Amino acid sequence: MSGGFRFELLRTDPSGARRGRFHTPHGSVETPVFMPVGTLATVKTMTPEDVAATGSRILLSNTYHLFLRPGHETVARLGGLHAFMGWPHAILTDSGGYQVFSLSGLRKISEEGVAFRSHIDGSARFLSPEIAVRVQETLGTDIIMQLDECPPYPAQRDYLARSMELSLRWAARCKAARAPAEDGRALFGIMQGGMDAQLRGLSAAGLIEIGFDGYALGGLSVGEPKELMAEVLSYAPALLPQDRPRYLMGVGKPEDLVMAVERGVDMFDCVLPTRNARNGQLFTRRGACNVKSARFREDPGPPDPECGCMTCRKFSLAYLHHLYRNREILGHRLMTLHNLHYYQDLMAAMRIAIQEDRFASFRDEFHAARAGETACP
Ligand SMILES: [Zn+2]
Repeated sequence: MSGGFRFELLRTDPSGARRGRFHTPHGSVETPVFMPVGTLATVKTMTPEDVAATGSRILLSNTYHLFLRPGHETVARLGGLHAFMGWPHAILTDSGGYQVFSLSGLRKISEEGVAFRSHIDGSARFLSPEIAVRVQETLGTDIIMQLDECPPYPAQRDYLARSMELSLRWAARCKAARAPAEDGRALFGIMQGGMDAQLRGLSAAGLIEIGFDGYALGGLSVGEPKELMAEVLSYAPALLPQDRPRYLMGVGKPEDLVMAVERGVDMFDCVLPTRNARNGQLFTRRGACNVKSARFREDPGPPDPECGCMTCRKFSLAYLHHLYRNREILGHRLMTLHNLHYYQDLMAAMRIAIQEDRFASFRDEFHAARAGETACP
């Protein structure tokens, strides 16, 4: 362990994009940052060395799944999540709430918390703000997320308002459950309020009053039109403190990351580069393409000629197409490796552009490179 959580804002580009760095008990992380998702204490098909080689220094793991199996206390007895999964760098865990709330029909929300049934064995379980914090502390995560309710889209305004207020009360209970924070871990609050500017403002003000190490924008990428997410991002990040990291949860596609960085977001996570790799989708500088397309059957070229990853250096699209069609495990692995490399290269390029005060021209070049979409059916 090397000291507690701390965020440095290093530079703000004229566009509003931010370059920063945060320090955790398991090392420093350069922002803007993309966190690969390791749901069950594994980024599927990747070793920790593979993940680190893409440039990742923080990943996200899911509390809900680890809480149910193998159980947070089991993980703790085995040395904590970092030792258990062999990942020496930083880890952020979600609160478990998002997965619980997606079990509609199997869960019941009250002021106290949320009662639910395990999707594994049907057993009755309960998650409260205090339990969510304790489970994440027991796992040994570096960044703890508050328990919140993530309302669906669309939702009625009065429901959104009541839900946002409940999330604020839960935020205060999470903060109280954390004290004293001598272990150096961070606790992040989560802004809610749906697509309503006034509710977003109230949520941000309430969270700032409680005081967190970082602030997440929740309740986006829940099925709303893209323009609506962009509209919320045009004002919501600026409601949060300048001197704390801002984390947009569950987003997203490469173009979403570029858009949100320009609006002052620092942190992202998403299953897209890993999950879509297993479904044959490759992200490239020219856009996304699907390796199962027959047009790649005899294509000797790499997925992305400008990518330096092992997949692009050693293998052809034709070979990946062949592996995919035969459901070979190596195909999943090679495509995951490339997609994570692509995402981390994109974040690194954005960090450099911000450092050099040229984010707007970077954004234009990013879109121009994809305009042809020649590589991608
Ligand atoms: Zn590659």
